[in-house]
Amino acid sequence: MSECTGSCSSCEEKEQGRCTGEQQGKASVLNHVKRVIAVMSGKGGVGKSTVTALLAVAYNKKGYKVGILDADITGPSIPKLFGMNSAPPVTEFGILPPRSKQGIEIISMNLLLPSEDEPVIWRGPIISGAIKQFWEEVVWGDLDYLFVDLPPGTGDAPLTVMQTLPLHGVVVVTSPQDLAQMVVRKAVKMAQKMKVPLLGIVENMSFMECPDGRHRLFPFGEGKAGLISQEFNIPLVGTLPLDPSLSSLGDEGKIEESPAADLLKIDVLTDRANTNGK
Ligand code: ADP
Repeated sequence: MSECTGSCSSCEEKEQGRCTGEQQGKASVLNHVKRVIAVMSGKGGVGKSTVTALLAVAYNKKGYKVGILDADITGPSIPKLFGMNSAPPVTEFGILPPRSKQGIEIISMNLLLPSEDEPVIWRGPIISGAIKQFWEEVVWGDLDYLFVDLPPGTGDAPLTVMQTLPLHGVVVVTSPQDLAQMVVRKAVKMAQKMKVPLLGIVENMSFMECPDGRHRLFPFGEGKAGLISQEFNIPLVGTLPLDPSLSSLGDEGKIEESPAADLLKIDVLTDRANTNGK
């Protein structure tokens, strides 16, 4: 019997009735994902999806093969950031993740819905099932990094991801407001309890650049993520400005054009992932 390539439509074994069918629908047979990194936040609106997208863009620019699994099933925003809306093709092996303009593989509930404003009104166990399918039934192929955009908080979906996906670790996104600082500790402590390595922290909306280009304003206070980084011994992977152009690029589906990806210290993150968060 010849080796299975996953391309059932052109397979002699299938035509001659010799395929056992064991491989069909098992995308995982074809998947070799070296690193799976989840991106989480204590609360919504701190820019977790934006940071997930920027991390993927930063790694992709360095020549890595990158994918994003949008695990925010009820509030998916990754496809919009990349200007993607076409339904993914389905093969005998599973769903083929569409690629962004620069080649990032993306799967999201929003790509599977009849229209992007269709709500997903599902209970926790069904949502968890969908996340597992995105991992097991999507043909990711060979990837260096798969980023998982978690829904905010410490509920069912983050728990499913931490329990079922082979995570190398998590990146925690926060912003400098006191409320975000309080809830980010919950996210950090959840990862610790689940024994998932904490790879880095990103502070979004950290400061504003003055139009003179020489001064920074700290509308929500300065250096807050640094304190959490010290308290939990997690490297600070970046501080991103509050920048209307970042928001507009996201709204226009052009997040890949944002220079903000260059502000993320992905070498720090890679080192930490290499040592498994230690
Ligand atoms: P979350 O995933 O945490 O809910 P999003 O990434 O969806 O947050 O961001 C929420 C909103 O804030 C979006 O409209 C996004 O464009 C905007 N936003 C995120 N980060 C920034 C930033 N650094 N500067 C300006 N707007 C931002």
